[in-house]
Order: sequence, then C-alpha cells, then structure tokens
Amino acid sequence: MFCLPNIRRMSEQAEKARKANRRRRSFACDGCGERFNIDDCRRKNQLYFIEEWHDSLSAGIKGILYFCPRCTQTI
Ligand SMILES: [Zn+2]
Repeated sequence: MFCLPNIRRMSEQAEKARKANRRRRSFACDGCGERFNIDDCRRKNQLYFIEEWHDSLSAGIKGILYFCPRCTQTI
C-alpha cells in the first residue's frame, strides 16, 4: 500500500528535477548509462528521447526517462 505523503514527495522531487533539467545539457542515458549532450545531438541532427512519466494514482510527474541517440533508434 502506498503512503500518500511519500507519493507527494516523489512528485515534488520529480518536479524539482524537471526544473533543474531546464539548465542541464547533458544526461545519463537510462538505456545504456552513457552520458549524452543534447546540444551535441541538435548540432548533429540526432534524435534523443526525454519523457516524463506519470501514474494514475496522483497528479504530477513521477520521474523522467532519458535515452541517448543510439538507444532512441531502438525504441
Ligand atoms: Zn543509451
């Protein structure tokens, strides 16, 4: 059974991560673990994948997924 304040805190943390990510340009890929830089990707015209995920229990985002260009090709 989920504890509600815990879920709320998770979603607050995800919200904070999202705000911090606006300034961040490089991320660790959730597929292969390698870091990739979104400015490099844009310059090289490579696709990358950043997706917020949600659940049906509460409002707000629960986390963010990152995939580098190489892993994005295999999604
Ligand atoms: Zn990857």
